Amino acid sequence: MEVIVSDQQPQTAAAKAFLAAGAKKMLIGGDWSEAESGERLDSRDPANDSVLGSVPRGGAADVDKAVKAARQAFDNGVWRNMTPDDRGRILWKVAELIESNIDELAELETLDQGKPLFVGRWAEIPGAAMQFRYFAGLTSKIQGETITPSINYQPPGKNIFAYTQKEPIGVVGAITPWNSPLVLEAMKIAPCLAAGCSMILKPAEDTSLTAIRLGELILEAGVPEGVFNIVTGLGPEAGQALVEHPDVDKITFTGSTATGRTILETAARSNLKKVALELGGKSPSIVMDDAEMDIAIPGVANAIFFNTGQVCVAGSRLYIHKAVYDKVLAGVADIATNMKLGHGLDPDVQIGPLVNRTQADRVKGYIDGGIAAGAEVVVGGEQCGDTGNFITPTVIANTRQDMSIVQEEIFGPVVVAAPIDSIDDVPAMANASRYGLAASVWTQDISRATRLASAIKAGTVWINCHLMFDASLPIGGYKESGWSRDSGIQAIDHYLETKTVCAVV
Ligand code: NDP
Repeated sequence: MEVIVSDQQPQTAAAKAFLAAGAKKMLIGGDWSEAESGERLDSRDPANDSVLGSVPRGGAADVDKAVKAARQAFDNGVWRNMTPDDRGRILWKVAELIESNIDELAELETLDQGKPLFVGRWAEIPGAAMQFRYFAGLTSKIQGETITPSINYQPPGKNIFAYTQKEPIGVVGAITPWNSPLVLEAMKIAPCLAAGCSMILKPAEDTSLTAIRLGELILEAGVPEGVFNIVTGLGPEAGQALVEHPDVDKITFTGSTATGRTILETAARSNLKKVALELGGKSPSIVMDDAEMDIAIPGVANAIFFNTGQVCVAGSRLYIHKAVYDKVLAGVADIATNMKLGHGLDPDVQIGPLVNRTQADRVKGYIDGGIAAGAEVVVGGEQCGDTGNFITPTVIANTRQDMSIVQEEIFGPVVVAAPIDSIDDVPAMANASRYGLAASVWTQDISRATRLASAIKAGTVWINCHLMFDASLPIGGYKESGWSRDSGIQAIDHYLETKTVCAVV
């Protein structure tokens, strides 16, 4: 398929000005800095491979400087000892600044990542603002408990008074992926700062531009110097140095299961710092015979094709009741056939490029491997565009559970379909995966739906919907999809220690 990527330029003056300023810097201790090495990495538009600018290639020396700045800001109490109300006001201000710069941020995200503009403009950038507003409200709800222990060996006439107090965990390193940069960063930064921690963000090397713009907004909102730092660079260099650093108290990571495992091993070998992991997925969409077809067919298509399939919770396995199998498969294939591919800044585009050529080749490799193993491409399966970064929306049938396209996370616009005979088959098929991030069930029978929701081993189960996100809804995985949850009230606990105080009075 031919993909014509016309020369698309941002519309907002602010995005143009941000790009025209050229080489970007890292944020360390309130200053915008070059890497100690002086080296830089190009930021490229994945739709046409043009260079948008460059970011410093940070390394261990830069990480060390950022950790020292964060530690100093933590120890001097400039942020953690601020009243919760004042901390909350500043985080609320970050939300307002994201919203007042929303068109610029959405355009920068599309240029840097490739996503269709509507994904950033209407879902992800508002979602990032919502994270800051939600956790702004939680700064004033961090509280311990009084406890009545049964100790009976205190001196005669004395009582026991015991309580817990919550304290910020200290200096946190946040490492994030390229698929939905700003909102995934906000899911770490907002609760971390709300808890009173200081932090260093290492954004993905391919998509650092909006992180840098967010850094400017965070300073503008009034977060004190040194509390929020950014080190751009490569995972095995800057990321690894952050995980190895002995003065980092916690790493919060979103990315692939393989990198999560490496991070865990590295953290265990260094200072045994705490680790939170949000990892990969291979989430099933399950369409029962009584589903409302007008909702279910576009719903399961959107579950896989939104953001060009680069979504951790994408509905990448499609299980369809045999009574409606042909209808649903044809409906999803029809939607895939009619999607418009192109540059994400084109307002009509629904499928953008993948983030880089390596990822596009990887996705194409999975498709070819599936065909070689006997699967049938119903629609799509092509790699195209001048840069080879585009993959046509792909629906694959005749799959078996043991195929790698069914078991492994492809992270592109590719869905694998299989029929199911009855509801009794669903839990075994849905759970036959090392992942357990999310699932959706499409049926009008609420008792069937809730029974399946209980039986499926996943951190989120949607009923008659998929990809419903909100700052109040915890997201994270069972099994090899991770160890913790972002979003929701308890996300702030990842950045807090519980101290027990027990007094004889
Ligand atoms: P990666 O795991 O490749 O990278 C994630 C981040 O880790 C990047 O910043 C990367 O740097 C960095 N990194 C790489 N190697 C190391 C290392 N040795 N030490 C420290 N940091 C390192 O993931 P992708 O960027 O490819 O993102 C896609 C993955 O993210 C998918 O598996 C997806 O499912 C998952 N994801 C999970 C979500 C969830 O909530 N569970 C949400 C969104 C995505 P660099 O950029 O240089 O490679």
